Amino acid sequence: MSRVRFHRYWLGLPIVVGSFVSIGPLFVQAADSSSTTHSSADAKTASGNPAAGAKSAPEGSNADAKPSSDSPGGLAPAELASRLETAKEQEERLDIELRSGKSYTRCRLLRLDRAGESGPPKMLRLETEDARKPISIDFASIRTLSIGRQVMYEVPIDKKSGRDMKLEKESKAAAEARAQWVARAEKRGVAPWPELTSEEHKAAIEENSRQIEKIKAMFPGMEVSETSEFTFCSNIPRNQVGPYIASLDKMYDLLCRMYGIKKGTPVWRGKCLVVAFIEQSQFADFEKRFFQLVAPANIYGLCHQIPTGRVVMACYRGNDPNDFAQMLVHETSHGFNFRYRTQQHLPSWVDEGMAEWIGETLVPKSTSVQRSEQASLRAMKGTHGMQGVLDSKRIAEIPDSYGIASSLTTFLVRADQKKYVDFINGIKEGKRWQESLKDSYHATVEQLVTAYGRSIGIPDLRP
Ligand SMILES: [Zn+2]
Repeated sequence: MSRVRFHRYWLGLPIVVGSFVSIGPLFVQAADSSSTTHSSADAKTASGNPAAGAKSAPEGSNADAKPSSDSPGGLAPAELASRLETAKEQEERLDIELRSGKSYTRCRLLRLDRAGESGPPKMLRLETEDARKPISIDFASIRTLSIGRQVMYEVPIDKKSGRDMKLEKESKAAAEARAQWVARAEKRGVAPWPELTSEEHKAAIEENSRQIEKIKAMFPGMEVSETSEFTFCSNIPRNQVGPYIASLDKMYDLLCRMYGIKKGTPVWRGKCLVVAFIEQSQFADFEKRFFQLVAPANIYGLCHQIPTGRVVMACYRGNDPNDFAQMLVHETSHGFNFRYRTQQHLPSWVDEGMAEWIGETLVPKSTSVQRSEQASLRAMKGTHGMQGVLDSKRIAEIPDSYGIASSLTTFLVRADQKKYVDFINGIKEGKRWQESLKDSYHATVEQLVTAYGRSIGIPDLRP
């Protein structure tokens, strides 16, 4: 017996811009899943458009996971060269760390020169994310090389320089730090997302592909665009979605930077699948067919967090391209936070607050967050209270709550971003948020509310 846990939120009142009312969780039978999927949806008001945004969480992989390696040191150089030939043919992703400390992630191998026909690699010509032109790398300058996120080569010990040793020490320290938070989480009964092999990543991507085939059979005109971290399947004309698709990887990179996740470290299980439709009716049909959910007309998008760790986000275009872009990063950030470190969910106000903060940071052209914050501020000035947002299991059930969550998050991040990350880490390890606040910011809830209240001109603010 399986069920899908589904939060959906919608606009309670017609065109009360920025306010969301949730209709609560819904339990639905899922056809082919044997575990609980956590899906959440946020109603977003697209100007004059009864649209709602939903987020879902992905299935489990570990944010701090390092590329796994079956054999320390990886392949011998000649074997590696053959493996690279295959990677080139199949356009597999390469992550390379140089002995200088510089690293290149998400590369495509364009050419491989070998020493002799079946000899070791000599030179690699790569298309990288950052450089506009392809670059050439001397094999001797490489410290580690991963194909499909699996370490395939490490510079031999006898050739290690002082700098190699230093970098190695750093990666050892990172592994130790991981072991420590894993132990803390497990002590509190929280399961860390496992580190995945490249086969497991590949299997998740294949699962996405199988789902895409079914989607294509049901909806004509669906095309697939790949980014480094997302598979975007949509019938929206490509020239309309290009910049918005790019914002997805920016969300991913922003959170990696904030959490101190080394570039190139996998967070998703495989990739996050985003399915975006032109029409609301198509989105509703998709939800019904693939997730057995009835999506109300004003739900903008839904992010399904599947217990295996796969994340599928579905949505439709709406009328405002900026709000669409904001919704995309908002929703997928929920998925990222689901996949970060452990399977522990963030409290609703923390999750929504961060999603809104990310949406506003990455899509400043959208006024959606500003509108919510203005509505929330008006409400707080009227009541001198936060309407129980901090204790709510689903803040979407509280009108004008998103603006409270986002401005409080911005307040915490601006106060000290490092402490904010410690705050999140504590929660992901299984601490109650109040306890994590105490440990990171050395503040009680009352102190937080008072300081936040002062910052918005309501010094007598109550929770
Ligand atoms: Zn949300």
